[in-house]
Amino acid sequence: MPVLFQFDNTYARDLPGFWAPGQPATVPAPSLLFLNRDLALKLGLDPELLGGPESAAIFAGNRVPTGAEPLAQAYAGHQFGGFSPQLGDGRALLLGEVIDRHGRRRDVALKGSGRTAFSRRGDGKAAAGPMLREALMGEAMHALGLPTTRALAVAATGETVHRERPLPGAVLTRVAASHLRVGTFEYFRARRDTARLRQLADYAVARHDPDLTGTEDPYLGLLRRVTQRQATLVAGWMNVGFIHGVLNTDNVALSGETIDYGPCAFLEAYDPDAVFSSIDHAGRYAYRNQPPVTRWNLARLAETLLPLIAGEDSEAAAARAVEQATGVIDAFPAWFEAALLAGQRAKLGLQNEDPGDRALADDWLDLLRAQRVDFTLGWRRLADAAEGNEEPLRALFTDPQAPGAWLERWRARAGREGRPAADWAAGLRRVNPAVIPRNHRVEEALAAASDHGDLGPFQQLLAAVRRPFEETPGQAAYLDPAPAAVTACYRTF
Ligand code: AMP
Ligand code: MG
Ligand code: MG
Repeated sequence: MPVLFQFDNTYARDLPGFWAPGQPATVPAPSLLFLNRDLALKLGLDPELLGGPESAAIFAGNRVPTGAEPLAQAYAGHQFGGFSPQLGDGRALLLGEVIDRHGRRRDVALKGSGRTAFSRRGDGKAAAGPMLREALMGEAMHALGLPTTRALAVAATGETVHRERPLPGAVLTRVAASHLRVGTFEYFRARRDTARLRQLADYAVARHDPDLTGTEDPYLGLLRRVTQRQATLVAGWMNVGFIHGVLNTDNVALSGETIDYGPCAFLEAYDPDAVFSSIDHAGRYAYRNQPPVTRWNLARLAETLLPLIAGEDSEAAAARAVEQATGVIDAFPAWFEAALLAGQRAKLGLQNEDPGDRALADDWLDLLRAQRVDFTLGWRRLADAAEGNEEPLRALFTDPQAPGAWLERWRARAGREGRPAADWAAGLRRVNPAVIPRNHRVEEALAAASDHGDLGPFQQLLAAVRRPFEETPGQAAYLDPAPAAVTACYRTF
Protein backbone atom coordinates (compact mmCIF):
# COMPACT_ATOMS: atom_id res chain seq x y z
CA MET A 1 0.00 0.00 0.00
CA PRO A 2 1.38 3.47 -0.88
CA VAL A 3 2.39 5.51 2.14
CA LEU A 4 0.70 8.91 2.48
CA PHE A 5 2.40 10.20 5.64
CA GLN A 6 5.90 9.58 6.95
CA PHE A 7 4.96 9.50 10.61
CA ASP A 8 7.37 9.96 13.49
CA ASN A 9 5.29 9.84 16.66
CA THR A 10 7.06 11.39 19.63
CA TYR A 11 3.88 11.98 21.66
CA ALA A 12 3.01 8.28 21.52
CA ARG A 13 6.58 7.16 22.04
CA ASP A 14 7.91 9.58 24.65
CA LEU A 15 4.80 10.34 26.70
CA PRO A 16 3.04 7.13 27.77
CA GLY A 17 0.48 8.00 30.44
CA PHE A 18 -0.45 11.23 28.67
CA TRP A 19 -3.02 9.72 26.34
CA ALA A 20 -5.38 6.85 25.69
CA PRO A 21 -5.24 4.76 22.52
CA GLY A 22 -8.21 5.06 20.18
CA GLN A 23 -9.55 4.03 16.80
CA PRO A 24 -11.56 6.20 14.43
CA ALA A 25 -15.14 5.05 13.95
CA THR A 26 -16.10 3.40 10.67
CA VAL A 27 -18.51 5.54 8.67
CA PRO A 28 -20.84 4.57 5.80
CA ALA A 29 -19.87 6.83 2.88
CA PRO A 30 -16.61 8.82 2.95
CA SER A 31 -16.22 11.63 0.43
CA LEU A 32 -13.94 14.65 0.37
CA LEU A 33 -15.55 18.05 0.89
CA PHE A 34 -12.27 19.95 1.11
CA LEU A 35 -8.66 19.12 0.42
CA ASN A 36 -5.94 21.64 1.20
CA ARG A 37 -3.43 21.23 -1.63
CA ASP A 38 -1.35 24.20 -0.48
CA LEU A 39 -0.90 22.68 2.98
CA ALA A 40 -0.39 19.20 1.55
CA LEU A 41 2.54 20.50 -0.51
CA LYS A 42 4.02 22.18 2.57
CA LEU A 43 3.79 18.86 4.37
CA GLY A 44 5.58 17.16 1.49
CA LEU A 45 2.63 14.86 0.75
CA ASP A 46 2.20 13.20 -2.62
CA PRO A 47 -0.55 15.08 -4.51
CA GLU A 48 -1.30 11.97 -6.60
CA LEU A 49 -2.15 9.91 -3.54
CA LEU A 50 -4.16 12.76 -2.02
CA GLY A 51 -6.47 12.92 -5.00
CA GLY A 52 -6.88 9.14 -5.09
CA PRO A 53 -9.74 7.05 -3.71
CA GLU A 54 -7.70 6.00 -0.65
CA SER A 55 -7.61 9.51 0.74
CA ALA A 56 -11.34 9.95 1.39
CA ALA A 57 -11.26 6.73 3.40
CA ILE A 58 -8.28 8.01 5.38
CA PHE A 59 -9.69 11.49 6.01
CA ALA A 60 -13.09 10.10 7.08
CA GLY A 61 -11.37 7.73 9.52
CA ASN A 62 -12.19 4.45 7.77
CA ARG A 63 -8.60 3.66 6.99
CA VAL A 64 -5.84 4.33 9.49
CA PRO A 65 -2.83 5.40 7.43
CA THR A 66 0.34 3.34 7.65
CA GLY A 67 2.52 4.45 10.54
CA ALA A 68 -0.26 6.24 12.46
CA GLU A 69 -0.74 5.49 16.15
CA PRO A 70 -4.15 7.04 16.90
CA LEU A 71 -4.44 8.43 20.41
CA ALA A 72 -6.65 10.74 22.43
CA GLN A 73 -4.71 13.29 24.46
CA ALA A 74 -5.51 13.91 28.12
CA TYR A 75 -6.09 17.50 29.18
CA ALA A 76 -8.04 19.54 31.69
CA GLY A 77 -9.19 23.14 31.42
CA HIS A 78 -10.83 26.20 32.83
CA GLN A 79 -14.07 26.63 30.88
CA PHE A 80 -15.67 30.06 31.32
CA GLY A 81 -13.66 30.36 34.52
CA GLY A 82 -14.61 27.02 36.11
CA PHE A 83 -12.09 24.18 36.34
CA SER A 84 -12.73 20.76 34.77
CA PRO A 85 -9.98 18.37 35.86
CA GLN A 86 -10.71 16.02 32.95
CA LEU A 87 -11.63 17.06 29.43
CA GLY A 88 -9.32 15.44 26.90
CA ASP A 89 -9.87 14.63 23.23
CA GLY A 90 -13.52 13.61 23.33
CA ARG A 91 -13.92 13.68 19.58
CA ALA A 92 -10.38 13.89 18.26
CA LEU A 93 -7.49 11.52 17.63
CA LEU A 94 -3.89 12.43 17.02
CA LEU A 95 -2.79 10.20 14.15
CA GLY A 96 0.86 11.13 14.45
CA GLU A 97 3.50 13.70 13.56
CA VAL A 98 5.18 14.52 10.28
CA ILE A 99 8.14 16.71 9.44
CA ASP A 100 7.17 19.37 6.92
CA ARG A 101 9.21 20.79 4.04
CA HIS A 102 10.75 23.37 6.37
CA GLY A 103 11.84 20.66 8.79
CA ARG A 104 9.14 21.54 11.31
CA ARG A 105 7.26 18.88 13.25
CA ARG A 106 3.50 18.97 12.66
CA ASP A 107 0.67 17.05 14.35
CA VAL A 108 -1.89 15.42 12.09
CA ALA A 109 -5.15 14.81 13.96
CA LEU A 110 -8.71 13.81 13.14
CA LYS A 111 -11.60 15.76 14.66
CA GLY A 112 -15.08 14.27 14.74
CA SER A 113 -13.81 10.69 14.34
CA GLY A 114 -15.95 9.12 17.05
CA ARG A 115 -15.87 8.28 20.72
CA THR A 116 -12.68 8.08 22.77
CA ALA A 117 -11.77 7.40 26.39
CA PHE A 118 -12.55 11.10 27.04
CA SER A 119 -15.93 11.40 25.33
CA ARG A 120 -18.07 11.43 28.49
CA ARG A 121 -21.66 11.75 27.22
CA GLY A 122 -20.65 13.09 23.79
CA ASP A 123 -20.95 11.12 20.56
CA GLY A 124 -17.44 12.00 19.41
CA LYS A 125 -18.80 13.23 16.09
CA ALA A 126 -18.87 16.52 14.24
CA ALA A 127 -21.24 18.11 11.75
CA ALA A 128 -20.08 19.21 8.31
CA GLY A 129 -20.98 22.89 8.83
CA PRO A 130 -18.72 23.52 11.85
CA MET A 131 -15.86 21.52 10.30
CA LEU A 132 -16.04 23.50 7.05
CA ARG A 133 -16.20 26.65 9.17
CA GLU A 134 -13.01 25.64 11.00
CA ALA A 135 -11.28 24.93 7.67
CA LEU A 136 -12.36 28.28 6.22
CA MET A 137 -11.45 30.36 9.28
CA GLY A 138 -8.05 28.69 9.53
CA GLU A 139 -7.27 29.46 5.88
CA ALA A 140 -8.40 33.07 6.36
CA MET A 141 -6.23 33.43 9.46
CA HIS A 142 -3.25 31.91 7.67
CA ALA A 143 -3.69 34.21 4.69
CA LEU A 144 -3.85 37.18 7.06
CA GLY A 145 -0.39 36.15 8.27
CA LEU A 146 -1.35 34.99 11.76
CA PRO A 147 -0.20 31.70 13.31
CA THR A 148 -2.92 29.06 13.15
CA THR A 149 -3.72 25.39 12.96
CA ARG A 150 -5.03 24.49 9.52
CA ALA A 151 -7.32 21.90 8.02
CA LEU A 152 -5.70 19.46 5.62
CA ALA A 153 -9.06 17.98 4.69
CA VAL A 154 -12.72 17.78 5.56
CA ALA A 155 -14.42 14.51 4.67
CA ALA A 156 -18.14 13.86 4.75
CA THR A 157 -19.03 10.62 6.50
CA GLY A 158 -22.42 9.91 4.94
CA GLU A 159 -23.74 9.68 8.47
CA THR A 160 -26.28 11.89 10.26
CA VAL A 161 -25.23 13.53 13.52
CA HIS A 162 -27.87 14.71 15.93
CA ARG A 163 -27.59 18.23 17.33
CA GLU A 164 -30.49 20.70 17.62
CA ARG A 165 -31.50 19.05 14.36
CA PRO A 166 -30.16 16.19 12.23
CA LEU A 167 -27.05 17.27 10.31
CA PRO A 168 -24.64 15.67 7.85
CA GLY A 169 -21.52 14.41 9.62
CA ALA A 170 -17.89 15.14 8.74
CA VAL A 171 -14.35 14.62 9.95
CA LEU A 172 -11.72 17.35 9.82
CA THR A 173 -8.00 16.60 9.59
CA ARG A 174 -6.16 19.22 11.61
CA VAL A 175 -2.50 20.12 11.22
CA ALA A 176 -0.92 21.88 14.20
CA ALA A 177 2.53 22.80 15.46
CA SER A 178 1.39 20.71 18.41
CA HIS A 179 -1.75 20.14 20.43
CA LEU A 180 -0.08 21.06 23.74
CA ARG A 181 -2.50 23.31 25.58
CA VAL A 182 -2.50 25.18 28.86
CA GLY A 183 -5.07 22.54 29.82
CA THR A 184 -2.57 19.72 29.21
CA PHE A 185 -0.41 21.12 32.02
CA GLU A 186 -3.44 21.68 34.23
CA TYR A 187 -4.34 18.00 33.90
CA PHE A 188 -1.13 16.84 35.57
CA ARG A 189 -0.98 19.71 38.03
CA ALA A 190 -4.50 18.86 39.24
CA ARG A 191 -3.23 15.34 39.92
CA ARG A 192 -0.13 16.62 41.75
CA ASP A 193 1.91 14.56 39.28
CA THR A 194 5.09 16.64 39.26
CA ALA A 195 7.14 13.96 37.51
CA ARG A 196 4.80 13.93 34.50
CA LEU A 197 4.51 17.70 34.62
CA ARG A 198 8.29 17.93 34.24
CA GLN A 199 8.24 15.38 31.44
CA LEU A 200 5.57 17.43 29.68
CA ALA A 201 7.44 20.71 30.14
CA ASP A 202 10.65 19.10 28.86
CA TYR A 203 8.73 17.83 25.84
CA ALA A 204 7.25 21.29 25.22
CA VAL A 205 10.69 22.92 25.45
CA ALA A 206 12.22 20.36 23.09
CA ARG A 207 9.39 20.83 20.61
CA HIS A 208 8.78 24.58 20.68
CA ASP A 209 11.77 26.22 22.35
CA PRO A 210 14.71 23.85 21.92
CA ASP A 211 17.20 26.67 22.46
CA LEU A 212 16.07 26.76 26.11
CA THR A 213 17.32 23.21 26.69
CA GLY A 214 20.19 23.25 29.15
CA THR A 215 19.68 26.89 30.10
CA GLU A 216 19.59 27.85 33.77
CA ASP A 217 15.81 28.02 34.08
CA PRO A 218 14.11 26.39 31.09
CA TYR A 219 10.67 26.27 32.76
CA LEU A 220 10.56 29.98 33.50
CA GLY A 221 11.91 30.48 29.99
CA LEU A 222 9.09 28.36 28.58
CA LEU A 223 6.51 30.42 30.46
CA ARG A 224 8.07 33.60 29.10
CA ARG A 225 8.09 32.32 25.51
CA VAL A 226 4.49 31.08 25.64
CA THR A 227 3.40 34.39 27.16
CA GLN A 228 5.21 36.36 24.45
CA ARG A 229 3.74 34.20 21.69
CA GLN A 230 0.23 34.64 23.07
CA ALA A 231 0.70 38.40 23.48
CA THR A 232 1.72 38.60 19.82
CA LEU A 233 -1.09 36.32 18.66
CA VAL A 234 -3.85 38.17 20.50
CA ALA A 235 -2.50 41.53 19.28
CA GLY A 236 -2.73 40.10 15.76
CA TRP A 237 -6.34 39.03 16.38
CA MET A 238 -7.23 42.49 17.68
CA ASN A 239 -5.72 44.13 14.62
CA VAL A 240 -7.76 42.01 12.20
CA GLY A 241 -10.92 42.17 14.34
CA PHE A 242 -11.04 38.47 15.21
CA ILE A 243 -13.06 37.16 18.13
CA HIS A 244 -12.15 33.59 19.09
CA GLY A 245 -15.31 33.09 21.11
CA VAL A 246 -14.20 30.33 23.53
CA LEU A 247 -10.90 31.29 25.10
CA ASN A 248 -10.92 28.49 27.64
CA THR A 249 -7.51 27.27 28.81
CA ASP A 250 -7.88 24.08 26.77
CA ASN A 251 -8.07 26.28 23.67
CA VAL A 252 -4.79 28.10 24.33
CA ALA A 253 -1.89 26.43 22.53
CA LEU A 254 1.70 26.57 23.76
CA SER A 255 2.81 26.95 20.15
CA GLY A 256 1.10 30.35 19.89
CA GLU A 257 -1.19 29.16 17.10
CA THR A 258 -4.89 29.97 16.94
CA ILE A 259 -6.61 26.70 17.79
CA ASP A 260 -10.12 25.27 18.06
CA TYR A 261 -12.28 27.44 15.83
CA GLY A 262 -15.77 27.20 17.28
CA PRO A 263 -18.17 30.12 17.56
CA CYS A 264 -15.55 32.58 16.28
CA ALA A 265 -16.24 35.58 14.04
CA PHE A 266 -14.71 38.73 12.62
CA LEU A 267 -15.96 42.16 13.67
CA GLU A 268 -18.10 44.05 11.22
CA ALA A 269 -19.01 47.54 12.53
CA TYR A 270 -16.39 48.34 15.14
CA ASP A 271 -17.68 47.57 18.62
CA PRO A 272 -15.16 46.55 21.28
CA ASP A 273 -17.95 44.89 23.31
CA ALA A 274 -18.89 42.59 20.43
CA VAL A 275 -19.76 39.01 21.37
CA PHE A 276 -21.07 36.56 18.79
CA SER A 277 -21.01 33.27 20.67
CA SER A 278 -24.45 32.16 21.81
CA ILE A 279 -22.91 30.33 24.78
CA ASP A 280 -21.02 33.40 26.06
CA HIS A 281 -23.86 35.07 27.94
CA ALA A 282 -21.69 37.20 30.20
CA GLY A 283 -19.42 38.42 27.41
CA ARG A 284 -16.37 36.87 29.08
CA TYR A 285 -14.78 36.36 25.67
CA ALA A 286 -15.92 39.62 24.06
CA TYR A 287 -13.50 41.24 21.58
CA ARG A 288 -12.08 43.70 24.11
CA ASN A 289 -11.66 41.05 26.83
CA GLN A 290 -9.35 38.83 24.80
CA PRO A 291 -6.09 40.35 26.08
CA PRO A 292 -6.98 40.25 29.82
CA VAL A 293 -8.56 36.81 29.50
CA THR A 294 -5.44 35.49 27.77
CA ARG A 295 -3.32 36.88 30.58
CA TRP A 296 -5.63 35.10 33.03
CA ASN A 297 -5.22 31.85 31.08
CA LEU A 298 -1.44 32.25 31.15
CA ALA A 299 -1.57 32.75 34.92
CA ARG A 300 -3.19 29.28 35.06
CA LEU A 301 -0.21 27.93 33.06
CA ALA A 302 2.18 29.72 35.41
CA GLU A 303 0.56 28.03 38.43
CA THR A 304 1.12 24.61 36.92
CA LEU A 305 4.80 25.36 36.34
CA LEU A 306 5.54 26.67 39.85
CA PRO A 307 6.93 23.38 41.25
CA LEU A 308 9.25 23.07 38.25
CA ILE A 309 10.40 26.69 38.42
CA ALA A 310 11.05 26.31 42.16
CA GLY A 311 13.17 23.24 41.49
CA GLU A 312 13.65 22.27 45.13
CA ASP A 313 11.03 21.67 47.79
CA SER A 314 11.60 24.60 50.13
CA GLU A 315 9.48 27.55 51.14
CA ALA A 316 12.13 29.99 49.96
CA ALA A 317 12.29 28.34 46.52
CA ALA A 318 8.50 28.29 46.25
CA ALA A 319 8.26 31.99 47.12
CA ARG A 320 10.95 32.84 44.59
CA ALA A 321 9.15 30.83 41.89
CA VAL A 322 5.91 32.71 42.57
CA GLU A 323 7.77 36.00 42.28
CA GLN A 324 9.47 35.02 39.01
CA ALA A 325 6.32 33.61 37.41
CA THR A 326 4.32 36.65 38.50
CA GLY A 327 6.95 38.83 36.86
CA VAL A 328 6.32 37.09 33.54
CA ILE A 329 2.52 37.28 33.79
CA ASP A 330 2.75 40.94 34.79
CA ALA A 331 4.82 41.61 31.67
CA PHE A 332 2.01 40.38 29.41
CA PRO A 333 0.26 43.78 29.09
CA ALA A 334 3.47 45.50 27.99
CA TRP A 335 4.29 42.75 25.46
CA PHE A 336 0.74 42.86 24.18
CA GLU A 337 0.79 46.66 23.90
CA ALA A 338 4.10 46.63 22.02
CA ALA A 339 2.78 44.07 19.51
CA LEU A 340 -0.57 45.87 19.18
CA LEU A 341 1.02 49.27 18.57
CA ALA A 342 3.55 47.88 16.11
CA GLY A 343 0.63 46.39 14.19
CA GLN A 344 -1.37 49.59 14.37
CA ARG A 345 1.58 51.64 13.10
CA ALA A 346 1.79 49.35 10.11
CA LYS A 347 -1.98 49.64 9.61
CA LEU A 348 -1.59 53.43 9.64
CA GLY A 349 1.22 53.17 7.11
CA LEU A 350 3.84 54.49 9.54
CA GLN A 351 7.40 53.23 9.51
CA ASN A 352 9.00 55.16 12.39
CA GLU A 353 7.97 55.41 16.02
CA ASP A 354 6.54 58.60 17.42
CA PRO A 355 5.33 59.16 21.00
CA GLY A 356 1.99 60.38 19.66
CA ASP A 357 1.19 57.12 17.85
CA ARG A 358 -0.81 55.50 20.67
CA ALA A 359 -3.15 58.49 20.81
CA LEU A 360 -3.38 58.64 17.01
CA ALA A 361 -4.47 54.98 16.84
CA ASP A 362 -6.82 55.28 19.83
CA ASP A 363 -8.52 58.35 18.40
CA TRP A 364 -8.98 56.54 15.10
CA LEU A 365 -10.65 53.60 16.86
CA ASP A 366 -12.82 55.99 18.89
CA LEU A 367 -14.00 57.49 15.62
CA LEU A 368 -14.75 54.09 14.12
CA ARG A 369 -16.77 53.16 17.19
CA ALA A 370 -18.69 56.43 17.48
CA GLN A 371 -19.58 56.30 13.79
CA ARG A 372 -20.25 52.50 13.66
CA VAL A 373 -17.72 52.19 10.84
CA ASP A 374 -16.96 48.76 9.42
CA PHE A 375 -13.65 47.75 11.07
CA THR A 376 -12.10 46.09 8.02
CA LEU A 377 -13.13 48.66 5.42
CA GLY A 378 -12.34 51.57 7.74
CA TRP A 379 -8.69 50.56 7.79
CA ARG A 380 -8.64 49.45 4.17
CA ARG A 381 -9.93 52.78 2.84
CA LEU A 382 -7.03 54.62 4.46
CA ALA A 383 -5.05 53.52 1.40
CA ASP A 384 -7.38 55.46 -0.88
CA ALA A 385 -7.13 58.45 1.43
CA ALA A 386 -3.34 58.20 1.28
CA GLU A 387 -3.64 58.62 -2.49
CA GLY A 388 -5.78 61.72 -1.98
CA ASN A 389 -9.16 60.05 -2.48
CA GLU A 390 -11.00 60.44 0.83
CA GLU A 391 -14.48 59.85 -0.55
CA PRO A 392 -14.65 56.02 -0.14
CA LEU A 393 -13.46 56.35 3.46
CA ARG A 394 -15.80 59.18 4.39
CA ALA A 395 -18.72 57.25 2.88
CA LEU A 396 -18.31 54.64 5.62
CA PHE A 397 -19.06 57.21 8.33
CA THR A 398 -22.53 58.20 9.50
CA ASP A 399 -21.26 61.79 9.29
CA PRO A 400 -18.78 62.08 6.40
CA GLN A 401 -17.27 65.19 8.04
CA ALA A 402 -16.42 63.30 11.23
CA PRO A 403 -12.94 61.99 10.25
CA GLY A 404 -11.72 65.34 8.82
CA ALA A 405 -9.59 66.57 11.73
CA TRP A 406 -8.15 63.13 12.39
CA LEU A 407 -7.21 62.68 8.73
CA GLU A 408 -5.29 65.95 8.83
CA ARG A 409 -3.34 64.80 11.89
CA TRP A 410 -2.60 61.45 10.28
CA ARG A 411 -1.39 63.10 7.07
CA ALA A 412 0.85 65.45 9.01
CA ARG A 413 2.31 62.55 11.00
CA ALA A 414 2.90 60.41 7.89
CA GLY A 415 4.20 63.42 5.98
CA ARG A 416 7.10 63.69 8.42
CA GLU A 417 8.28 60.28 7.13
CA GLY A 418 8.49 61.73 3.63
CA ARG A 419 7.27 58.65 1.73
CA PRO A 420 5.79 59.09 -1.74
CA ALA A 421 1.99 58.70 -1.63
CA ALA A 422 1.97 55.67 -3.96
CA ASP A 423 4.44 53.87 -1.73
CA TRP A 424 2.47 54.77 1.39
CA ALA A 425 -0.80 53.51 -0.13
CA ALA A 426 0.79 50.28 -1.35
CA GLY A 427 2.11 49.64 2.17
CA LEU A 428 -1.35 50.23 3.61
CA ARG A 429 -2.86 47.74 1.16
CA ARG A 430 -0.34 45.11 2.14
CA VAL A 431 -1.38 45.12 5.80
CA ASN A 432 -5.06 46.13 5.85
CA PRO A 433 -7.14 43.32 4.35
CA ALA A 434 -9.99 44.00 1.97
CA VAL A 435 -11.55 40.57 2.40
CA ILE A 436 -12.34 38.80 5.66
CA PRO A 437 -14.79 35.93 6.11
CA ARG A 438 -17.93 38.05 6.49
CA ASN A 439 -20.44 36.42 8.81
CA HIS A 440 -23.30 36.41 6.32
CA ARG A 441 -21.03 34.97 3.63
CA VAL A 442 -19.81 32.23 5.94
CA GLU A 443 -23.35 31.25 6.93
CA GLU A 444 -24.49 31.30 3.31
CA ALA A 445 -21.60 29.07 2.23
CA LEU A 446 -22.07 26.61 5.10
CA ALA A 447 -25.82 26.40 4.59
CA ALA A 448 -25.37 25.65 0.88
CA ALA A 449 -22.81 22.94 1.66
CA SER A 450 -24.54 21.41 4.65
CA ASP A 451 -28.21 21.69 3.67
CA HIS A 452 -27.98 21.33 -0.11
CA GLY A 453 -24.66 19.60 -0.76
CA ASP A 454 -23.60 22.59 -2.87
CA LEU A 455 -19.92 23.35 -2.26
CA GLY A 456 -19.75 26.17 -4.83
CA PRO A 457 -20.30 29.09 -2.44
CA PHE A 458 -17.80 27.59 0.05
CA GLN A 459 -15.12 27.20 -2.62
CA GLN A 460 -15.64 30.74 -3.90
CA LEU A 461 -15.54 32.23 -0.42
CA LEU A 462 -12.46 30.18 0.40
CA ALA A 463 -10.70 31.46 -2.73
CA ALA A 464 -11.58 35.05 -1.75
CA VAL A 465 -10.37 34.84 1.88
CA ARG A 466 -7.13 33.24 0.72
CA ARG A 467 -6.28 36.52 -1.07
CA PRO A 468 -7.34 39.00 1.63
CA PHE A 469 -5.15 41.88 0.44
CA GLU A 470 -6.33 41.77 -3.18
CA GLU A 471 -9.14 43.94 -4.35
CA THR A 472 -9.72 42.65 -7.86
CA PRO A 473 -13.19 42.71 -9.45
CA GLY A 474 -13.60 39.05 -8.54
CA GLN A 475 -13.17 39.92 -4.87
CA ALA A 476 -15.77 42.70 -4.96
CA ALA A 477 -18.69 40.52 -3.91
CA TYR A 478 -16.86 39.59 -0.68
CA LEU A 479 -16.02 43.11 0.47
CA ASP A 480 -19.37 44.37 1.65
CA PRO A 481 -20.56 44.12 5.25
CA ALA A 482 -23.77 42.26 5.96
CA PRO A 483 -26.93 44.35 6.02
CA ALA A 484 -27.06 45.96 9.49
CA ALA A 485 -30.13 43.98 10.52
CA VAL A 486 -28.30 40.69 9.94
CA THR A 487 -25.19 41.69 11.88
CA ALA A 488 -27.08 43.04 14.88
CA CYS A 489 -28.49 39.64 15.78
CA TYR A 490 -25.68 37.45 14.42
CA ARG A 491 -24.87 34.48 16.66
CA THR A 492 -22.38 31.69 16.22
CA PHE A 493 -22.71 28.28 17.87
P1 AMP B 1 -14.34 22.54 22.80
O1 AMP B 1 -15.52 23.32 23.28
O2 AMP B 1 -14.42 22.17 21.36
O3 AMP B 1 -13.05 23.17 23.16
O4 AMP B 1 -14.43 21.13 23.56
C1 AMP B 1 -14.47 21.03 24.96
C2 AMP B 1 -14.44 19.57 25.36
O5 AMP B 1 -15.63 18.88 24.95
C3 AMP B 1 -13.28 18.77 24.79
O6 AMP B 1 -12.86 17.86 25.76
C4 AMP B 1 -13.92 18.08 23.61
O7 AMP B 1 -13.22 16.92 23.24
C5 AMP B 1 -15.29 17.74 24.15
N1 AMP B 1 -16.29 17.56 23.10
C6 AMP B 1 -16.83 18.51 22.29
N2 AMP B 1 -17.73 17.96 21.45
C7 AMP B 1 -17.77 16.63 21.71
C8 AMP B 1 -18.51 15.52 21.18
N3 AMP B 1 -19.40 15.67 20.18
N4 AMP B 1 -18.28 14.30 21.71
C9 AMP B 1 -17.40 14.13 22.71
N5 AMP B 1 -16.68 15.13 23.24
C10 AMP B 1 -16.86 16.36 22.77
MG1 MG C 1 -11.18 22.75 22.80
MG1 MG D 1 -13.83 22.52 19.70
